[in-house]
Amino acid sequence: MLITCPYCGPRDVSEFTYQGDGNRRRPEAASQDLDAWNDYVYGRLNPAGDHNEIWQHSGGCRIHLRVVRNTLTHEMSSPVPVREPAGAAARKGARS
Ligand SMILES: [Zn+2]
Repeated sequence: MLITCPYCGPRDVSEFTYQGDGNRRRPEAASQDLDAWNDYVYGRLNPAGDHNEIWQHSGGCRIHLRVVRNTLTHEMSSPVPVREPAGAAARKGARS
C-alpha cells in the first residue's frame, strides 16, 4: 500500500504512522457539555467506505497529512497537509 506524500512522493505505508480519525472536533476547553466530551474521547466512526484520517510521514519528512482511506479497499487518496483546509488540494487543481 502506498501513500503519496506531497513533499516526498509515493512511499510505502510502513513509513507512515496512523494518527487518528480526521473527523473528530475537540469541544471548547471550557465546555461542560459532558456528552460532547464523551463523544470526543470515546466516539469513533467505523464506516464501510471512505474515511477521513490523519497520518504522519514519521519515516520521512514528518509532515501530518489528512488522507481519505477507503476501509474496504484500503486505497488512500487526497493526501494534503493537515495545515491546509479540507478540499484545498481540489481547489488548487481547479486553478491550474
Ligand atoms: Zn514526506
